Amino acid sequence: MRMTLRQPERLLEGARELGISLDERQCELFATFGSLLYETNRFMNLTRIPEDRMIELHFLDSLAIAKIVHLAPGARVLDVGTGAGFPGIPLAIAFPLLHFVLIDGTRKKIEFVRRVIEVLDLQNVIAFHYRAEDFAKVGSNLNTYDFAVARAVAPLERLLPWLLPFVKSGGYAVAYKGLDVDAELDKAKARVKAFGGSLDRVVTVTLPFIGVERKFVLVRKQSNL
Ligand code: SAM
Repeated sequence: MRMTLRQPERLLEGARELGISLDERQCELFATFGSLLYETNRFMNLTRIPEDRMIELHFLDSLAIAKIVHLAPGARVLDVGTGAGFPGIPLAIAFPLLHFVLIDGTRKKIEFVRRVIEVLDLQNVIAFHYRAEDFAKVGSNLNTYDFAVARAVAPLERLLPWLLPFVKSGGYAVAYKGLDVDAELDKAKARVKAFGGSLDRVVTVTLPFIGVERKFVLVRKQSNL
């Protein structure tokens, strides 16, 4: 299955603005992912973002984390509540030398993500049907990831206790959030501490072309519990 994007230059240029250079093969992988997503979306509820906004609001938004953390080769990244594969699949395509684990509590979504991984033949990503709370009961997952990330999954007060147990000391939980994150942060502060984390920073990234502002909440894991 070989697809091309309607506007490959938009993806290339947007990624470049985020500090990522993509080659032709990676662009094809994004295109194939997009086709699978919108074909499947006809009969399964995967996304409400229209196809003509996919490059900016799905792909570039997922990749925007690269602007604020160093994704070093060999790093391990857990994507909690990946849904149809965001941000995990775009990151796995763009960063083939990192290792990605994607989990979601909805079986159908993970079945879709597994199909994407198979069709795209991605060697650096694996998907599991798990809720975060249950994945944490598999002891070998704890304190092992350089980053645990989540986009549009839950308020910080609930989300950070899901993410932090997986992060190793010195690593980060990173939440993709909207602009109105301050009230959520206030409520989450006590929980951050209880889970061995400390709020590192909140960073705003303006998405290429559309000017939408994405806020990232970074919590550093100080100690393993
Ligand atoms: N991250 C994707 C995105 O940005 O498009 C999906 C967002 S969707 C709104 C939220 C997803 O989180 C759903 O697929 C849901 O099944 C999953 N989810 C919610 N709570 C979860 C939990 N405790 N553990 C794992 N997945 C969870």
